[in-house]
Amino acid sequence: MSIICETITLTDFDYNRFPAGLLITDKNKHIVFANDYFSDELDWQDGSLIGKKLETLLTKSSMIFYESYVVPLLVVEKRFQEIQLSVLTASGERVPVLVNTRVIQQQSGFVYWSFFSASNRITLYQELIETRKDLYAQTETLKKLAITDELTGLFNRRELQTRANHNIARSKRFVSPLALLIIDVDHFKKVNDKLGHDKGDLVLVELSKTLTSLSRELDTVARFGGEEFAILAPDTSTEQAFIFSQRIHEIISTKVMAEQVITVSIGIATLDDTQNKTFHELFVAADTALYQAKNAGRNQSVIYTKNIN
Ligand code: GH3
Ligand code: MG
Ligand code: MG
Repeated sequence: MSIICETITLTDFDYNRFPAGLLITDKNKHIVFANDYFSDELDWQDGSLIGKKLETLLTKSSMIFYESYVVPLLVVEKRFQEIQLSVLTASGERVPVLVNTRVIQQQSGFVYWSFFSASNRITLYQELIETRKDLYAQTETLKKLAITDELTGLFNRRELQTRANHNIARSKRFVSPLALLIIDVDHFKKVNDKLGHDKGDLVLVELSKTLTSLSRELDTVARFGGEEFAILAPDTSTEQAFIFSQRIHEIISTKVMAEQVITVSIGIATLDDTQNKTFHELFVAADTALYQAKNAGRNQSVIYTKNIN
């Protein structure tokens, strides 16, 4: 195989064929050479840039950037790659460009420039930013969906478990009480039968709002079953949890939710290092107390003690 190379001597005609702007400035920042890129792409008339100061071509902010950042680097490194500047068309329109610059001999002060249009790159970059924003928003939505209950917007069973683990660890670490209240609507089947399932749903939504408004910011309010709710209350003793439960009964009794006043039964258990070590144990204890509350006639709270079974 043989390769035949032709040597060519570049003429102005050739410089004008490069798909890039070629420019030379002297030590006074006057333009001494500009190829046809500037007339073809930026509408400067042939030769009209020659003798003009660099300020004619660069926007004010690009000029400041060039003077303050690029020039000092050119002195040291003799070249600067991929700087993004804005140039002006003959009619004053701004065009983003990527620029490489190079100084051949420091003393001569000539700077050799090549310009590449960066319009597409900027559009692409903006699209990437938009896409990233969309993806971030979608991820946030998915994250939220994964931890919330669709009907009420409360935390779901999985998130209750996650937060419980965290709260239990914290409670043990700081030797601070942690209470769990399990709340079950009384005779909810009858509510559904009377109002229909959709209104039943509305009752659950209203109840969720009420429970949230009565809880503190650090409490976790969750819907873990059909008409079953849980409130995990950190730094809350058994007595405080009971007072809290009485407030819940009191407020619910005054509210008409979708044409209906409901009552709830509540089971309360607190984390006690000697007895309830895991969330499962704490949950079973509160559920046992809830069962007692139902048996005792509903619309009341029962605190779990070792004697209940
Ligand atoms: P009690 O708890 O007082 O013993 O009686 P209950 O009638 O509430 O008891 P149970 O737990 O047996 O029934 C719960 C009912 O809740 C059954 C079901 O029809 C209803 N339910 C469960 N999930 C939903 C829901 O998402 N929407 C509506 N509208 N109803 C639901
Ligand atoms: Mg139930
Ligand atoms: Mg019920």
